Amino acid sequence: MEFICELHTHSRFAGACSDKLTLQNMDSTARTKGIGIIGTGDFTHPKWFMEIKEKMASQGNGLFRLSGSNTRVNFILSGEVCTIFPKVKGGSAGMFDRTGNVAKIHHCILLPDLDTVAQVNEALARFGNPSIDGRPQLSMSAAELVETVMEINSDAFVFPAHVWTPWFGVFGSMGGFDSVEEAYEDQAKHIHALETGLSADPAMFWRISKLDKYAIISSGDAHSLPKLGREATVFEFGEKELSYGAVVDAIKGRRVKRTIEFYPEEGKYHYDGHRKCGVSLSPEDAKRYNNICPVCRKKFTLGVLHRVDGLADRGEGYVPEGAQRYTHAIPLNEVIAFVSGKGVASAYVADAYSRLVERFGTEFNVLLNSSIDSIRESDPKIAEAIGNVRSNRVSIKPGYDGVFGVIDILKPVDPGAQRKTAYGQRTISDL
Ligand SMILES: [Zn+2]
Ligand SMILES: [Zn+2]
Repeated sequence: MEFICELHTHSRFAGACSDKLTLQNMDSTARTKGIGIIGTGDFTHPKWFMEIKEKMASQGNGLFRLSGSNTRVNFILSGEVCTIFPKVKGGSAGMFDRTGNVAKIHHCILLPDLDTVAQVNEALARFGNPSIDGRPQLSMSAAELVETVMEINSDAFVFPAHVWTPWFGVFGSMGGFDSVEEAYEDQAKHIHALETGLSADPAMFWRISKLDKYAIISSGDAHSLPKLGREATVFEFGEKELSYGAVVDAIKGRRVKRTIEFYPEEGKYHYDGHRKCGVSLSPEDAKRYNNICPVCRKKFTLGVLHRVDGLADRGEGYVPEGAQRYTHAIPLNEVIAFVSGKGVASAYVADAYSRLVERFGTEFNVLLNSSIDSIRESDPKIAEAIGNVRSNRVSIKPGYDGVFGVIDILKPVDPGAQRKTAYGQRTISDL
């Protein structure tokens, strides 16, 4: 049985996160979307951890369900932290001019039981104040973090979050590292998975041979309920074998079935440029300007594509043997908003969303599984848009320097042409 898994979430106690992010709302939203396993997020935050202890019922397998809920949504104890530490050794000097000598890296942590969470929280509180933010800042190195957590419970699982994000990704262009080994030092042996983040998809990882050994995870990292599961990781388990250990073992054994991905061009850091100067360009064009902005004469914010290009030892389009499968998707409320021209938070969109989910069971059934013909019976335009997204017939203006990309899912394209981007045309068919 297929389980759609959203491992990286946040509570209402994390910076810039919606008040509606409660465990009850996360449970019902996961049910509506068809997410089978969802992270609690933010277990380091004292108030949120209190709620988790009060409201979650252990299933005896390392997973939890909301007490009194009749949904079958499984929660996994998860959190995200930011380690801040001086870079002792780092990067290939010259290729990327990094700002300062401090690395700020985001990591996700999964834990198997509440007692371990309590111990991890106590240990991490020595390195920062967990009450300030659901995603606490810790003055410790990436290696110290992993060592601290793994010493408390060797069943813990740590993975670097959104690895390409310029400022907080382990490989980010601003203060990131060139390899997992440089970042995690002797603790790199405990790192088995990398999270893509919104601005990257697995095909970009395939260009870097030293990343072949890692499982690729995708998560929504949502700051509000509708964005839960906008990226996700799919596993196949027998219903009885489902457990915390089964999830972790599937990742370690590289048995991820597939990931569900944003179009990477839609992410906020795909291209290079300056938001304030209104300058956005491809890595190739940025290099022509020596990565210096012609408007303000300062260095561009280099996006994910540039960074991947710099580390790549394989050409675009290379597919390694045993490459993990993936599918692109766009949240249903955004599809409806686009097609109707109405606001994403409008009553119209909420209505149309409910009708489709009622008919097809879950949002992911509409987006991924139901036949386009059956969706057409409900709404021909939405069916056309979903068909286009499924087959990559979309047109995208890439995001840059914190600005989200802009996607057109109804633009007629030449037959056979797929995924037209503003920087030309390329074809990456889903495997
Ligand atoms: Zn993060
Ligand atoms: Zn500028």
